[in-house]
Amino acid sequence: MSDQLTDANAFACYAVGCPCWAVHKRGAHWMCVPHAAIDDPRAWPQVTAHLRAHFWLIKALARAQHIDPHKWPGGASADAAAFVSRHGRSDLAPTRCQVSRMIRDRLTGQDVTQSRTLDETASAALWVNRVRGALYDEAIKAASEKAGRPADHAAQEYQA
Ligand SMILES: [Zn+2]
Repeated sequence: MSDQLTDANAFACYAVGCPCWAVHKRGAHWMCVPHAAIDDPRAWPQVTAHLRAHFWLIKALARAQHIDPHKWPGGASADAAAFVSRHGRSDLAPTRCQVSRMIRDRLTGQDVTQSRTLDETASAALWVNRVRGALYDEAIKAASEKAGRPADHAAQEYQA
């Protein structure tokens, strides 16, 4: 059967040549996050090209998830910072980030801003989460810019 998956590609993204794991099902196919976010298949090659150009980062994120948590602060986190800097992406080094979000205070019913500090130098999971999100955002943006318009507009035209 032609559409029967082998063990080798059962977890692969449906987009040809994509190095990422498939995590979203769209229609009959499983896709990675950035490919699933782009409705127009004509824009998929740009996403794939961006992801393949950052395969060094995808591998590093996968490795970081399996590092002993006790070896991350000061040790592996410093190695990760040096690694991304060598690739010209010191902006992706583990750091302490201030994040804030609007939440509804259950007592007063008011919307309030909740802020907290995420210390990626103390937690590989926090670093992996931010950097993977940044990579996916860049891949989606690369496809949108190539199309010269937002991805959702391109998708509407494709369906028409
Ligand atoms: Zn993909």
